[in-house]
Parts: sequence; structure tokens; C-alpha cells
Amino acid sequence: MKIYNTMSKKKEEFVPLEEGKVKMYVCGPTVYNFIHIGNARPMIVFDTVRRYFEYKGYDVNYVSNFTDVDDKIIKKAIEEGVTAEEISRRYIAECRKDMEGMNVKPATKHPLATEEICGMVDMIQSLIDKGYAYEKNGTVYYRTRKFKDYGKLSHKNLDDLQSGGRALLVTGEDEKEDPLDFVLWKPKKEGEPAWQSPWSEGRPGWHIECSEMSKKYLGEQIDIHAGGEDLIFPHHENEIAQSEAANGKEFARYWMHNGFLNIDNRKMSKSLGNFFTVREIGEKYDLQVLRFFMLSAHYRSPLNFSAELMEAAKSGLERIITAADNLKFLMTNAKSDVMSEEEEQRYETSAQFTAGFEKAMDDDFNTADAIAAVFEYVKFINTNTGADSSKEYLEKLYGRLEKLTDVLGIIIDRKEEMLDADIEALIEERQAARKEKNFARADAIREELLSKGIILEDTREGVKWKRA
Ligand code: AMP
Ligand code: ZN
Repeated sequence: MKIYNTMSKKKEEFVPLEEGKVKMYVCGPTVYNFIHIGNARPMIVFDTVRRYFEYKGYDVNYVSNFTDVDDKIIKKAIEEGVTAEEISRRYIAECRKDMEGMNVKPATKHPLATEEICGMVDMIQSLIDKGYAYEKNGTVYYRTRKFKDYGKLSHKNLDDLQSGGRALLVTGEDEKEDPLDFVLWKPKKEGEPAWQSPWSEGRPGWHIECSEMSKKYLGEQIDIHAGGEDLIFPHHENEIAQSEAANGKEFARYWMHNGFLNIDNRKMSKSLGNFFTVREIGEKYDLQVLRFFMLSAHYRSPLNFSAELMEAAKSGLERIITAADNLKFLMTNAKSDVMSEEEEQRYETSAQFTAGFEKAMDDDFNTADAIAAVFEYVKFINTNTGADSSKEYLEKLYGRLEKLTDVLGIIIDRKEEMLDADIEALIEERQAARKEKNFARADAIREELLSKGIILEDTREGVKWKRA
């Protein structure tokens, strides 16, 4: 199994630190709003990486944080006149709902930065003790030049950084020994959330949060550290400097980074008006479609989001689910239970699709090619099954399909869950049918909704509906 390692810029064979186990840390979102579809990309991609390791029999310890103390959270809290905690709690809950919709498994542990401050203070203190950090007027800085390997992940040269850094030096930071030094602890400003520390009442810098939470929940050395490519520098570079200086060992063996998601070939941004939250997409599409769309490209490539590509993902997904539905239909109507010899042979032939899928996934999680293998398998199913197929044969084919789609996090056992918008459209159609005295159609719609678990109630205020 090969993984592209940002550190070596090469695909490397995956060798776990401990046999049969994978320890991975994925930088999570800053929770000041609903997550956007760009944030959804690392969630979906690395959840798929996790699922593939699990498929291969590994025991995966998957840790992903919520950054719940940050300038943006504080700003939003001030705007709304509530506490920062209220903002972060609210959006963590909303984020979990979106994750569920996208079928992203909850992490083994989702630590919150605000609950881990003690450990961060200890880590900062040990960096001071080892000479890697210093305090000035209540702020603690990391002494970047002291860490000899600084720049090894982002392949940046310290002197180039130095010349760029000088221009970036902001007022109030001139107390730093070197413009390259970065903040580990900062004193609070009026009205900000703050914690006690030996240096000042204040809060940790963003980078130290991940170094500490990774160490606490996964240990000093981990297999994989992941996030979006914008995190390579400075976030991950700084994490390495902190963790390796504090622990005296290599931090992570493999560094994985997903490419960016753009919209209509432009950077997604609020000011350009091309910014979508996962919630907004969920109003138009089942979030499985968003997931399928994300996996249709290689995770390291830039990915363009557009209405056409979403429609293509929708019909591709539909093709797979229809094949699964057909298999279920044939299963319930099958005349024989046991596989014939010929079916046995055909089933064996279909192992090639699992092999193709694994080959693609083994090559740095090439989900685009893995999906192509699933489509080939769907074609095989459609041409090699029929009313004469035995139940056992159909079940085996279904099992193979489910195993592969489960790695992608795609649910094929459709629960016939309807979107709110579709329900409301049918209710409107029913009202129109009643007006035209087409009661047969109106009743048919009521029955159709009922079969999908939607109960209608005609009240004086209009039609109300609920899920059974
Ligand atoms: P943030 O909340 O900005 O810290 O981002 C959380 C995660 O989403 C990080 O791993 C980012 O790299 C990732 N991310 C943010 N924007 C995008 C985007 N447009 N495309 C892909 N990943 C993104
Ligand atoms: Zn991080």
C-alpha cells in the first residue's frame, strides 16, 4: 500500500509503527459557522482513508480536533452578544450533523482545544526548559532557528522565509528575537476567553493545540498526520518544530494533504459570492452525492465544484444504487436458493473488480480509479443477473458491492429517505389534484408518501406532514 508523503514528495510503502494499527490525526475545523464544502473535502477524503485501512484489517485510532478558541469565534460571539463557548458548541453540533449526512464516521476521539489547555501549558513549559521557547511580556514565542529541521515539510529555506517574514512583521511583535519566531501563548485582550498560565492569563496559539492533542490521544509518534494543503505551512511545519523539539522523536511518519476545492474554477470566497455551506448543498442534494462527487477526483488534485459535476455525480451514484435495488428485487423473487456451478464461476470472475478496486486504493488512495472499478462491476452485475439467478448468487454479488461501496462511505441499502423539498413538491401536486377533483391522483400521492414513511395530516391551517 503506497501513500504520497508530503515530507519526501514521493509515494512510499506504508509501514505502520505498530503492526496492524494505524494512528492518525486530522486537523479539524475552526467552529465559528456552518462548515463549507471546502472543509468537507478533508473530512470525506480522510474518512475514506480510514475506512480503507479498516477494510484491510487495521485497527485505526483516528483523532480529529475541533478548534474552539480562535479570533473568528470571538468575533462572531461579540457580533451576536453571546459567549465564545456558545458559538463553538452550536457549530460543533451543526458540524456533527453534516458529518452524519456525509456518512463521515465520528473520530475515535474529537478533542476540544479548550479542554486541553493544561497539557498545552506543560508542553510550552518543556519547550522553554529546553531552550526552544522564550517569554516576553506575557507572550511565549517559539525560537524557530533553534530547530535545525525547520522547513523540512514545506521544503522552504529559512533565509527565504526570513526576507519575506521581515516585511510581515506587525507592530507589537518587534519584541520577538527573530521575525521567524511564532506564538505559543498570548495574553488575553479585554473580553476574550482566557486561562491561567505561568506567563500571563491568556490562550494558546493555534499550532500548539494540535501538537498537544495528538500527543495526548495518540502518543509522541503517529503514523499519519493529515489536513488540507493550506496547512502545510505554517501550521504543520510549526507542529513538527514543537512536537519534535518537545518529544525528541520524529512526529509523524506520513504527511497527507488534500488539494483545494474551487467553485466554477475560482477560489471559493464569501466576497466572490461563490461560497457554499454543506447545509446549503444538503437542501438540494442527498449529501451522499456530495461525498461521491468529492471521491470522483484524486484527493491531491484540485477539484472544481459545479452544478454539472454534481449532476454527473448524482447520476453515477444512481447507477450504482439502481443495480443494488435490482439485485434486492431479484433476490426476493429468486426461484432457486443455491448457486449453480456456472454462477459459482461467474462469481469468481467478478473477483477481478475487487482486485481492481484494491489496486487503485493501494496506489495512494486513488478513489477515481476505484470508482471506475465499481462502475465496471455494476455493468457486470447488470449483464450477469436475471430472473433465473439464484438467491445465493445474487446475495454474494450484493455483498461484494456493499463491501466496496462501504469503503467509499456510500450507502447502497437505500432507506427511501425523501428530501424535504421532494415531499413538499408532492404535497403541492396533491393539493392541485384535489382542486381538480382528481381524487385518484391525490390518494395515490398520499399512499406513495406513506410507503416512504411520510404521514400527511389535513388540518385547518393546511397540510402538515411528519416522518413515521
Ligand atoms: P479551517 O476551519 O479553515 O481550519 O479548515 C479545516 C480544514 O478544511 C483544513 O484541513 C483545511 O485545509 C480544509 N479546507 C479549507 N478550505 C478548503 C478548500 N477550499 N478545499 C479543501 N480543503 C479546505
Ligand atoms: Zn492542526
